[in-house]
Amino acid sequence: MSVRVRFAPSPTGLLHVGALRTALFDHLFAKKHGGVDILRLEDTDRSRFNPDSESEFIESLSFVGIEFDEGPHAGGNFGPYRQSERKAAGLYEPWIAKIMELGAAYKAFETPEELEEMRNVQSANKAQVGYYGGAWRDATPEQVAEAEAAGMPYVIRQRIPRNRTVTMQDPIRGSISWETNLLDDPVLIKADGMPTYHFASMVDDRLMEITHVIRGEEWLSSAPKHLLLLETFGWPAPVILHCPVIVGNDGKKLSKRHGATRVLDYIAEGYLPDALLNFVALIGWSPGDEREDMTMDEMIQAFSLEGLQPSPGRFDIEKLRWLNGAKIRAMEPSVLLAALLSYINRPATMQFWSEKEQEENQPSPTAVRDALLLFARTAIRDRAYALDIVKLEQERVTTLADFGLAGHFFLVDEPEMDPKAVSKWFTQPHVGELFNYLLERLTAPRAPVGGPVDYEHASVEWCEALIRGYAEDKGFEKLGPVVHPTRVALTGKTTGPGLFELMAALGPDRMVARLQRAKALL
Ligand code: GLU
Repeated sequence: MSVRVRFAPSPTGLLHVGALRTALFDHLFAKKHGGVDILRLEDTDRSRFNPDSESEFIESLSFVGIEFDEGPHAGGNFGPYRQSERKAAGLYEPWIAKIMELGAAYKAFETPEELEEMRNVQSANKAQVGYYGGAWRDATPEQVAEAEAAGMPYVIRQRIPRNRTVTMQDPIRGSISWETNLLDDPVLIKADGMPTYHFASMVDDRLMEITHVIRGEEWLSSAPKHLLLLETFGWPAPVILHCPVIVGNDGKKLSKRHGATRVLDYIAEGYLPDALLNFVALIGWSPGDEREDMTMDEMIQAFSLEGLQPSPGRFDIEKLRWLNGAKIRAMEPSVLLAALLSYINRPATMQFWSEKEQEENQPSPTAVRDALLLFARTAIRDRAYALDIVKLEQERVTTLADFGLAGHFFLVDEPEMDPKAVSKWFTQPHVGELFNYLLERLTAPRAPVGGPVDYEHASVEWCEALIRGYAEDKGFEKLGPVVHPTRVALTGKTTGPGLFELMAALGPDRMVARLQRAKALL
C-alpha cells in the first residue's frame, strides 16, 4: 500500500513554526516513500474559523518549498478537502448513523449550565473533571425520545467502554497504554450537527486512505479515544506518531512569550526557506549521524519516523542563525544576488521592516529597510558592483537583511564615519602622507606598482601591491598602520571584508573621493 499522509491544520490563524514542522515531517516522509502528501483543512470549529488562514497556510508552505499532491487548491480523488464541505456533502452522515446503531455513541442533552455545574461539583469534590456519563449515557430510549420530541438540543458523545486497557505502539515512544475508566466521553457531533475533530478526523483518515498520521504531542492523550473509534468501525489504525513539543531556551512550551514564531516573519527577517526548513526539522529529529546542515533532498533521504525523539525539541534561534549563515556562504554568488533581490522586492519584506519595533542593541528597522532598498537600486544600475558586494559580504552576514547595513558603505558616497575609529587612526602622524601617497597613485595615469592599471578595474592584486608598496617604501614592518587608516577612510569603520578586496570592488573613483574626504577630516 502506498504511503498517504495528511497535514490537517485547523484554519484559525497564522502558520507558526510548530505547524511548519508537522507539515515538513509529513512532506519528508511522503517523499521518502514515494507517497502522497495531502492538505486537509479541519474547519469544523466555525467559532475559531479564520477566512485568511487557508491561504496563509498554503502560501507560506509553498513559499518554503512544501507543495501538496492533494488538497483544496490541488484537487485529488479524495475530496472535498475542507471538512466543512465534507460535512455539507453528507460524508459523515452514514458514520454517525453507524456509530449510533452500534451503540458506541449516544445523545446527551445537558445544557451548558448543567455541564458547568457538573464540572464545578467535580472540582469541589477533587474528582476528575470531564463527562463520564452524566445523565444521558445510560438514559432509556424513552427518555431520549422525550427529550428529542421536546426539541432539546443535544450533542453526540462517544461511549468509551469501561474497564479496558487501550494500547498503542508509538514509533518513538514504544508501547503506551491507557485505562479507559480514566477517559471521558468526548463530543463527536456538536449541537449544530458539525463533527468535532475526534470524529471528522478519524472518518476522513479512513476515507482518504491515510496510512500514517503525524501530529502534535497535544493529541497524544486523545489517541486512545481515536483507537476506540477506529475499533468500533472495524478500521485498522494507521501508524500514529506524535511529534515532540517545541520548547524555548527556558524549557517552556514555545509561545508568543518567546517572540514571533510566524513562518512568514522569519522569511521577512531574512532567513532562507531552506535554512528555516533545515532548522525546524532538527527540532526533535535527527538524521542519525552528526549532520546538521542539510538540503531538502538530503533530509528526505535521511528521514525516518524512528529518527524522531520523544523528548521536547529545543527552539534555539542561534542554530537557525548559524544554519542560515552557512547556507548563504554555500550559495553561488549570482544565485545569492538573485535571492537577495527577490527578498528585497517582496512587499512583505518592506512591510516587516517598516513595522518592526526597535529592539535594544539592534539597528533601526527602518535603517535596515532603507539600506536594502538602496542596495536594490544600486543593483539595477550596476549589477557587477552589486555582485561584488554580495561576494564580499557573503562571508560575513547571517541573514539576507544583514546585506543592507553590512554593505551600506559601498552604496553611499559618504559612509558614516565611526568617531572612535577616526580618532584612533586619523591622528597617527603618517596618515596624511599615506592618503596623499594613495591618492597620487590612484590618480596617476600609470601606476608605479603592479604595472599599468586599468582604472576602471583596479584588481585585488593591484590594490594589495599599492598598500604593500607604501609599507615597504616607508619602512613599516607591519601592515596594520597602513591598512587600518585606509579602511576607515574608505568604509568609515574598522571591520568589514578584506581591505584589498573591498578596494577593488570600490574602484579607483570611489576610493579617490573617499580618501579626499578623509584627508579633510585630518
Ligand atoms: N486539526 C488538528 C490540529 O490542527 C490536526 C491534528 C492532526 O493532525 O490530527 O491540531
